[in-house]
Amino acid sequence: MENIVNKKVCGWKNLEVGKKEKIFSFCDKYMDFLNEAKTEREAVKLIIGKLKNQGFVSILEKEKLEEGDKVYYNNRDKAVFAAIIGKDELRNGVHIVGAHIDSPRLDLKPNPVYEDGRLALLKTHYYGGIKKYQWTAIPLAIHGVIVKANGEKQEICIGEDEKDPIFTITDLLPHLSQNQNTKKLSEAIEGESLNLLVGSIPDEKNDSVKENILRLLHEKYGIREIDFYSSEIEIVPAFKARSLGFDCSMVSSYGQDDRVCAYTLLEALLDSRESGITKVAIFADKEEIGSVGNTGMCSENFDYFINKILNLKNINHVGALNEVYCQSKMLSADVGAGLDPNYQDVSEKNNASFIGYGVELNKYTGSRGKSGASDANAEFVAYIRGVFEKNNVKYQVSELGKVDIGGGGTIAYILANKGVDVIDCGVPVISMHSPYEVTSKYDIYSAYEGYKAFFESFQKVDY
Ligand code: MN
Ligand code: MN
Repeated sequence: MENIVNKKVCGWKNLEVGKKEKIFSFCDKYMDFLNEAKTEREAVKLIIGKLKNQGFVSILEKEKLEEGDKVYYNNRDKAVFAAIIGKDELRNGVHIVGAHIDSPRLDLKPNPVYEDGRLALLKTHYYGGIKKYQWTAIPLAIHGVIVKANGEKQEICIGEDEKDPIFTITDLLPHLSQNQNTKKLSEAIEGESLNLLVGSIPDEKNDSVKENILRLLHEKYGIREIDFYSSEIEIVPAFKARSLGFDCSMVSSYGQDDRVCAYTLLEALLDSRESGITKVAIFADKEEIGSVGNTGMCSENFDYFINKILNLKNINHVGALNEVYCQSKMLSADVGAGLDPNYQDVSEKNNASFIGYGVELNKYTGSRGKSGASDANAEFVAYIRGVFEKNNVKYQVSELGKVDIGGGGTIAYILANKGVDVIDCGVPVISMHSPYEVTSKYDIYSAYEGYKAFFESFQKVDY
């Protein structure tokens, strides 16, 4: 008897000729994307640029929609929806793949600039689930926008060019850390001590380092201190994405949660064959803080986008939106936790994902007794398995970690609440949410293959 045992084999083994080269060159472009898109706004710019190059137009410019039309919706420069209209009727559902483009980071406070200990610093407020100690004593860059009261928008990016200065958050020297060392890891570095060092030369006239920095900012960007009120400035690691390991098999970079799924989704959408079904891509904001606000997936902006499609196809009626959702299928494209050899005790090895073993499916997320979980129906899991197996997409089915150790969630439940069949499907990551997250190039390519195969599939789920 063959195949009665589910043997898990590393993806790098038995690769067909030329596949490794294909994977590596795909990931070279992915690393370029990571270096160019360190914030949600930068990701939106790149994604829309690429969509436009491929013939997508803003849905707001369309007067009607026909089979083959390619449209996108830019939600406030921070989130994007895109769709390729299929010939199949929308009431038979659409195929959605949804990733998020925000990542954990430090935001500037609205009154950031101050002087202390004869140095100039910026106050930050962390965004998303970070381990604070990881953000000290590393090179940091400043990205974002400042919008003046007259609406004039100033984009800022300092610390990425080799010639730029960088910034840092200082840490205590070990010689004087006796007290700090006795504290719990979660309390040793406080949120209020994540202050960014930005200058040390005092003003010639009044001796103020703060004023000297404000003068420099005014000279260079024409901004005044009050303009920080209407700014969104993010502090992110200044280092670049790199190949990792003697075998160059992995990628190390900031922001892979969840731009690894965003990038593979974008490529899959653009490369996918026409299948009849309408394909929809979501690039969401605010996932890391609960998908809240009008750029997060809990807002009704996505309903608006789908309604817009129904209107432009002239097939909208009361209940049409629900009809679309209840017949639709979705891959919630978000990262999972790869087993970390240094911290194996949080994983249950039968149900952990291993980097290099293919794109991961999480049937459910949540914590404790599956609290907050979106639990995919067995019939739908079978459908996705069928699609992947038919297209030779290597996948693994796993959980985040041991029961009762913790938990997490994605945007899956939000679409599931609307009636969509959803399963989490993404790339396993080691050191998730850290300034330098690790992924396997094999899994990155598997995610691309998986999303593409899903977009190209068109059967009904057999309930
Ligand atoms: Mn994520
Ligand atoms: Mn995350």
